[in-house]
Amino acid sequence: MGKLSLAKKKLLANEVWDELNIEFPDSACSLEKDSPERLAVRGILSAQCTDITVNKVCRVLFDKYPSMEDVLKADISDIESIIKPCGLHKAKAASVMDFARLYEEEWGREVPESREELMRCRGVGRKIANLIMGEIYEIPAVVVDTHCKRVMYRIGLTESTDPLKAEADLCKVFSEDKWIRLGHLAVDLGRRYCKSQRPDCKACPLASSCQRRGL
Ligand code: SF4
Repeated sequence: MGKLSLAKKKLLANEVWDELNIEFPDSACSLEKDSPERLAVRGILSAQCTDITVNKVCRVLFDKYPSMEDVLKADISDIESIIKPCGLHKAKAASVMDFARLYEEEWGREVPESREELMRCRGVGRKIANLIMGEIYEIPAVVVDTHCKRVMYRIGLTESTDPLKAEADLCKVFSEDKWIRLGHLAVDLGRRYCKSQRPDCKACPLASSCQRRGL
């Protein structure tokens, strides 16, 4: 396939937006959102882990340590053991502790709105910062996770599988008011049809517009 012009990509983006909204009308963040700080912790734990596991693990974590103050006072080895099912448990426990420290000692018990400030926390990269900004403060930002970068590349709305470049490409073709929901729709598409291995192009609602269908 050839690379699409920006104008064609914008037309394609409109089609994709309409189709995805018809297919997934209830699309939303699948991490539980009982408080901003807890959502941020779930975001940190979600790297290379399913949202179902993160939600399950966090019910245990927050049952034992309800506040960030409680988390900060906890023994890190206990946090490691609780979050073990999420994988990378040592690094993630250190990140959760760092988040609790910043939240309690530097951020005045508030989750900051600023990407730069959020990314001061260990384990919070651009993807998690975008998630927090969008889900807590409704600040437009596209969360380009593994599903989003794969499906948007296959559809032809980006030529890059680098998340930063893909995000920049998507921001050029979708208007700001679509950025938060776009990430959720892409995840739904990736989970149901456009799987990493053997995408189900025959059943996919984007089959007629996708630029790399059947690849
Ligand atoms: S047509 Fe196939 S490759 Fe394209 S988005 Fe759908 S499942 Fe993915």
